[in-house]
Amino acid sequence: MDCCSQPGLLPVAQAIKLMRAAITPITATENLSLAKALDRILSEPIYSAINVPGHNNSAMDGFALRHQDLNSEAPLKLIGQSLAGHPFKGVVNQGECVRIMTGAVIPEGADTVVMQENVRAHDDIIHINQRPKPGENIRRAGEDIAINSLVFAQGKRISPVDIGLLASLGVAEIKVFQRVKVAVLSTGDELKPLTDKLQAGDIYDSNRPTLIALLSRLNLEVIDIGCVADDPEKITAAFTRAINVADVVISSGGVSVGDADYTKEVLETLGNINFWKVAMKPGKPFAFGVLQKPNAIANKGWFFGLPGNPVSAVVTYHQLVLPALRYLAGEEFDEQPLLNISIQSDLKKQPGRADYQRGRLTTQGGKNYAATTGNQSSGVLSSVAQANCYIVLEQERGSVKAGEKVNILMFDKFLL
Ligand code: AMP
Ligand code: MG
Repeated sequence: MDCCSQPGLLPVAQAIKLMRAAITPITATENLSLAKALDRILSEPIYSAINVPGHNNSAMDGFALRHQDLNSEAPLKLIGQSLAGHPFKGVVNQGECVRIMTGAVIPEGADTVVMQENVRAHDDIIHINQRPKPGENIRRAGEDIAINSLVFAQGKRISPVDIGLLASLGVAEIKVFQRVKVAVLSTGDELKPLTDKLQAGDIYDSNRPTLIALLSRLNLEVIDIGCVADDPEKITAAFTRAINVADVVISSGGVSVGDADYTKEVLETLGNINFWKVAMKPGKPFAFGVLQKPNAIANKGWFFGLPGNPVSAVVTYHQLVLPALRYLAGEEFDEQPLLNISIQSDLKKQPGRADYQRGRLTTQGGKNYAATTGNQSSGVLSSVAQANCYIVLEQERGSVKAGEKVNILMFDKFLL
C-alpha cells in the first residue's frame, strides 16, 4: 500500500477505504456466556433452535373458543381455565370455552379468543356480546422468531436488546471474536499528568483520558502506555512497548509537519506508516500504517497517529479510527444516517476540506432545529462537550447562510 502517493488532501471516504484495505479483521474467537456478551461481536451466525413464542398463546385476558360455534346464538359452557405456565389439559369441544389469560397456551380445539370485556358470564354460562374475528387475539407460535431461522448474522455487535432476544431463545453461550488490544499514548514535552502543578507553557494531557474513555465504549482491551516526551529515544521505547503488547497503537500529538519528525523517524523503523493530510476540519494531519510485530493478529499491528489538538483528536478518532477499529474487530455495520435540516445561523467555511462543525439538534413543537455550538477552534473541547451532532459541510462547499440546508450527523453511542 502506498498511501503517500495521494496528491494533495485525502478525502475522508478515501482515507477510510485505504485503511480498510490495509487492515486484516481479527479471526481468533472465544466462547462467552450471554451475561458477558454486551458489545461483543458475533463470530458466527446464530440460528434459532426453537419457535418464539413456542406455542399459540392468548394476546388478551378472555375466553378461548371455537369460532364456528358462534354461528348459533347459544351461549358457551365454561369447562376450565388456561393460565400462563398452567395450560388447560383437555380439549375444547362444540359449545364449550375455556377461561384464558394473556400469554397462556391456546387449548386444543380452540381457534379464537374473545376478550373478557365482550362477554357476559353467569357462573359457567358465557354469552358473547361481540363476536371476535376468526383467529383473533392469538399470538402464533414462531411469529417472533421461527425455528431454524437466522437470528443474527456474523459480525453483529450485541446490544442489550439482542441479549434479551438470545435469552428468549435459550442461548446461554455465544461465540465471539476476541477483543482487539489497543495501546494509547500521548506525545509532547508540554503534557503533564493531572496530579502535577502546571508550570508556564504546560498543559494537562487530556487526549489520553479522552481516548481511553472513547475506546471503552467500543469494549476493546485498552492498554495505557502513558505520556511520552518529544525525545527520539523515549519515543522509540514507548512505541516499542506499545507494539509488543497491543494489536493497535493510537498516539496523539506530533503528527503535524515540524514536530512530526521524531515520531515519523521512529515509526519508519517500526513499520510502514503514512502521514496523510486528510481533507477534513478539524483534523488535517493524521498518520496511519502497518506495524511489524510479533504476537499480534497476523503478526502485524496498526498505527493511528492523531493530531494533538483535543477537538481534532476526538473528531479524527470518531470519523477515521472508529470505523477502522470496528472493521478490525470483525463488526458489520451500516453508515450512520444523515439528516438534512435548515441551519439557524450563518456558518463560516472555506472550500477544500469537509467541515465537521459541532452543533446541537433540538426539537420544539414537533420541529427540529440545528445550531452551531459556537467557537469551532480545534482547541476548544467544550464545543464538542456541548454538542450532540456534527454539522457536516461538504468538501467543496463555502460559507453557509442561515436557512440553507445542511447535513446533520448525530453523535452515536461511541462518542456520547
Ligand atoms: P501537536 O499535534 O503535537 O503539534 O499538538 C497540537 C496542539 O495540541 C498543541 O497545542 C498541543 O499542546 C496540544 N496537545 C497535544 N497533545 C495533547 C494532549 N495529549 N492533550 C491535550 N492537548 C494536547
Ligand atoms: Mg506536540
